[in-house]
Amino acid sequence: MTALSEKIRISEIFGPTIQGEGMLIGQPTVFVRTGGCDYRCSWCDTLHAVDSAYRHDWLPMEAEVIWNRVLELSGGVPLTVSLSGGNPAIQPLGSLIARGKRDGYRFAIETQGSVARDWFADLDFLVLSPKPPSSGMETDWDILHDCLKAATARPSGGPRIGLKFVIFDDADYAFAKDAAARFPDLPVYLQPGNHTPPPPDDDDARIDIDGIMDRMLWLVDKVTADRWFAATVLPQLHVLLWGNKRGV
Ligand code: SF4
Repeated sequence: MTALSEKIRISEIFGPTIQGEGMLIGQPTVFVRTGGCDYRCSWCDTLHAVDSAYRHDWLPMEAEVIWNRVLELSGGVPLTVSLSGGNPAIQPLGSLIARGKRDGYRFAIETQGSVARDWFADLDFLVLSPKPPSSGMETDWDILHDCLKAATARPSGGPRIGLKFVIFDDADYAFAKDAAARFPDLPVYLQPGNHTPPPPDDDDARIDIDGIMDRMLWLVDKVTADRWFAATVLPQLHVLLWGNKRGV
């Protein structure tokens, strides 16, 4: 457990909106986006929460202050809070989760699985998203296993866990199949990659929707031809609706 007074670096808090991807797609949520990431994926679409050039935007905030903002945005009506980034796992989020759960809120996190935290066991949803070859990053599978161990450390309870893969090409697809085979009990979500990260402040950023939908169709064909029926194929709904615009 982290101290209530410990500061968390926050890039943005916004919502309510809907979760645009993965196991909670379409569900109402408030986003708490933390600042900073230990990865530098070639196609990262949240550079404003990753690149140290934006560090001045990341406010160090206490859990109670963050929580008051979530309460304000949600009108005090419990919903799922999505902890995002950057890599939210590098921030001390245990006290925020404990605080929110006292008010009946649920917590979901998505992380690449490069840092294991004991507070993973307090989450309601944990999405582990190992990055494929096109990202230029490499997965440490031992640490990913540590993340699963941390999330399932308690004899009962613990989060619903899923694997999510961003897919651009055959090499990414092969990576996802290999990774999924390592964790046969976990549900798998496949998502066509979005090649066009805009400058972070460009609200009118144009997204290559045709390219994304072409990859979506290609991915559906791959999965069905392979009889990979355990996989769920989903686009990023928020990208289709709003492009890479921030704060929606
Ligand atoms: S892990 Fe996620 S937030 Fe970090 S650089 Fe990669 S895509 Fe961006």
